[in-house]
Amino acid sequence: MAVICGCASSKGVFVKVEEKLALNKFEIDKDVHITVDESKCRECKLFQCVYACPAECYVLRDEHVTFSYEGCLECGSCRIACDQGAIRWVNPRGGFGVCYQFG
Ligand code: SF4
Repeated sequence: MAVICGCASSKGVFVKVEEKLALNKFEIDKDVHITVDESKCRECKLFQCVYACPAECYVLRDEHVTFSYEGCLECGSCRIACDQGAIRWVNPRGGFGVCYQFG
């Protein structure tokens, strides 16, 4: 995905979202801040978490969602999007999680 950067240049600069995300730093905590109740996921047919997450932490493979919290941007979209109530989300502990760098 490419977006036009709204910088001072009148021409605009095309920047890939993936390149911006790659600038972020993550302090990965051993305590997960998101847990997913798989028993509730099995009833889901919409997989809204997959489409809501900007970091692609949820991946759909063969009608099954896999999840990893390490690249989470802490936006909270997955918790809101999940209509099964399967996602438990808390803020990471202090000093852990995403550290935005110009992204
Ligand atoms: Fe993805 Fe945002 Fe949920 Fe993190 S909080 S897993 S970035 S949707």
